[in-house]
Amino acid sequence: MTENITTRLVHADRRSNVEHGGLHKPIHPSTQYGFERVEDLIGVFQGTVKGGFNYARQGTPTTAALEAKLTQLEGGRGTIVFSSGMAALCAIFLTLLKAGDHIVSSRYVFGNTNSVFGTLRNLGIEIDMVDACAVENVAAAIKPNTRMVFVETVANPGTQIPDMAAIGQLCRDKGLLYVVDNTVTSPALFQPKAVGAGLVMNSLSKTISGHGGALGGSVTDTGEFDWSAYPNIFENYRKGDAAQWGLQQIRKKGLRDMGGSLSSEQANQIALGAETMSLRVRQTSETAMALAQFLAAHPAVAAVHYPGLETHPQHAKAKQWFRAASWLLSFELKDPSTMNAVLNRLRIPVKATGMGDTRTLIIPVAPTIFWEAGAAVRAEMGIADGLVRVSIGIEETEDLIADFGQALAG
Ligand SMILES: *Cc1c(COP(=O)(O)O)cnc(C)c1O
Repeated sequence: MTENITTRLVHADRRSNVEHGGLHKPIHPSTQYGFERVEDLIGVFQGTVKGGFNYARQGTPTTAALEAKLTQLEGGRGTIVFSSGMAALCAIFLTLLKAGDHIVSSRYVFGNTNSVFGTLRNLGIEIDMVDACAVENVAAAIKPNTRMVFVETVANPGTQIPDMAAIGQLCRDKGLLYVVDNTVTSPALFQPKAVGAGLVMNSLSKTISGHGGALGGSVTDTGEFDWSAYPNIFENYRKGDAAQWGLQQIRKKGLRDMGGSLSSEQANQIALGAETMSLRVRQTSETAMALAQFLAAHPAVAAVHYPGLETHPQHAKAKQWFRAASWLLSFELKDPSTMNAVLNRLRIPVKATGMGDTRTLIIPVAPTIFWEAGAAVRAEMGIADGLVRVSIGIEETEDLIADFGQALAG
């Protein structure tokens, strides 16, 4: 019998040998790990002693406990955690790609991911960014040197949803690594393994940790990709079970060598937050849906972007794939000149750039997160001057709707 996510999460530590029967995994702050017998020290280095530790840059018992939980949540084969979502993404790109390789990415990606693509281009990696809502655009961009296809489940701030299942099939047919950033949906709403993703990345800083108190990121191997056929696995790592090759390379090169390691204290904080993830996402998705409907009917609002609305272009797919339509929505004010006044009248949402917090966070998009991009890029990406992004928190639905009502009424 498969228990549901929360049931599994809250019993995970207790069922995996926690010292003294503690219900929670203790925090192991040690950076060094010692052994009675030198054979065991050697065995940890050579990977023949399983589950051993030597230096915290490669992991601790506390980060390993978090990794095991995330592997369960994503239905994967293994997970590596990092100090932030960006560290996790950089580890994927920098350890699995080399100069001359080509990536096809959705053109609607997180701003800092887009910035990393600039760095990759400087290193000689080619990137084509396409509208991945139609699989034909992804298919048309594939070349002989394409190694990877990258998408986000729900784009921020426009909430576009790629044609994820068809892209998964395409990647399988072409033998390409399919990487899905599951941050906005989180495993509470969606497992990218279901659409054929080979690697799933999550920013743990958002919904999974959930309380705006810890940064972290993760990479999960779903078991869907055949690493034995991947040309960029280093000779050293082409030994033993090919199923382990991908994560092994990401751990050795991306975590051990590059050092974006998560601390035990932050891993513990994230694990605690994750226990209530499903409960929070149920509430925040319900509020997001109610607020989206309220805003869609409001005369001061020109458009609402939320996958839960029937007017959303990928509504049917969201309904098919996701348990709910998430806590992320955006809307356009009819009169962008009223932006500052409307946002300043709001009493509950915090004017802040983050997402996936217990508090509702709100930000005008064009003058902040898309300011550096410039007007031409904003126009190309459909970022209107009156666009506002809202990350819904756990406040009561009716309180938030009342607040938006008074702020928009002026
Ligand atoms: C926040 C975010 C990231 C980066 O994660 P950090 O933990 O902030 O480094 C990556 N992708 C998406 C979709 C995000 O929202």
